[in-house]
Amino acid sequence: MTEAQKDPAWMKDIRALVGKEYGRVYGWDPVNLPMARQWAEIMGIHNPRYGRGEVVPPAMLQVWCMEGPQLNHYPPGSTTENPYEALKLIEAHGYPSVVAVNSELEFDRDLVPGERVYYTTRLDAIGEQKTTALGTGFFVTLVMTYYAQQPAGDEKVGQLLFRVFKFRPAHPVKPAAATAPAGPPKIKRPAPGISDDTRFFWEGAREGRLLIQRCKGCGQLRHPPGPSCPSCHSLEWDTLQASGRGKVYSFVVMHHPEVPPFEHPNPIGLIELEEGTRLVAQLVGVRPADVAIGQAVQVEFNAVEVGAPDGDAQVWLPQFRPVPEAVPAP
Ligand code: ZN
Repeated sequence: MTEAQKDPAWMKDIRALVGKEYGRVYGWDPVNLPMARQWAEIMGIHNPRYGRGEVVPPAMLQVWCMEGPQLNHYPPGSTTENPYEALKLIEAHGYPSVVAVNSELEFDRDLVPGERVYYTTRLDAIGEQKTTALGTGFFVTLVMTYYAQQPAGDEKVGQLLFRVFKFRPAHPVKPAAATAPAGPPKIKRPAPGISDDTRFFWEGAREGRLLIQRCKGCGQLRHPPGPSCPSCHSLEWDTLQASGRGKVYSFVVMHHPEVPPFEHPNPIGLIELEEGTRLVAQLVGVRPADVAIGQAVQVEFNAVEVGAPDGDAQVWLPQFRPVPEAVPAP
């Protein structure tokens, strides 16, 4: 449910931007088969039309004009205007959060290798102020129109409508308590993404149990957890409580970059459990220089503070500590 509210006075200037067209953003490379082939492979698309190189997948439209790993690094001739200026301006009035709401791609025709593509952006609409479960803010719609350059006049090939909700959260991130000591806030570990597939693992860890997913179809153990068995594709599974004993199958020691709050050098092991499956975990109680492949280790569970999107939380992490090699009974 949303509820309309009166526009704040400052919104008038921002609304005046609606309808504004922002300049061209060019693609670095012409439409080409290597990118199309890799994209189709990653997406799992097997269409012989793409394999033959006649046309490229239409859904790649956005790909051709992406800036690459360097943020805002567009080819010469591209606009230096910020097509998202309305979002920045709304944000400056105390609406820090954003969530994508709609993304609608339309295609006028297939693109063929060799074509050069650019797009322009239009600020299409700003809705009236609304309050949703997320918070209070504005739905902002942008429309990117894609063109292929042609000697006889550029040709529209497709369009992307992109709508976001720019809002002030209903449950703002808790500000630091007034009594908190001065200084930068302590950086916490990122919270693990916990889903219906992985919840058992984290709940087990909280109880001090190392639970490994086991296929009910063929009995194979697997980690990290997933919905189906890679061997027999069964969706049925239960869990096995591992002894927590294993060996260092392989390891890395992280030196750089130093990412807080981790201590560096940071030894991370690929542990082969005695039950036969492996998992990645931090190694504790060992100097990084002393970690050795084949070293016997034992799990222990340590609580860490994590920064979660909805506030801070505590997670129990399985970590592995070297132990003396088990001596066979005489
Ligand atoms: Zn199976």
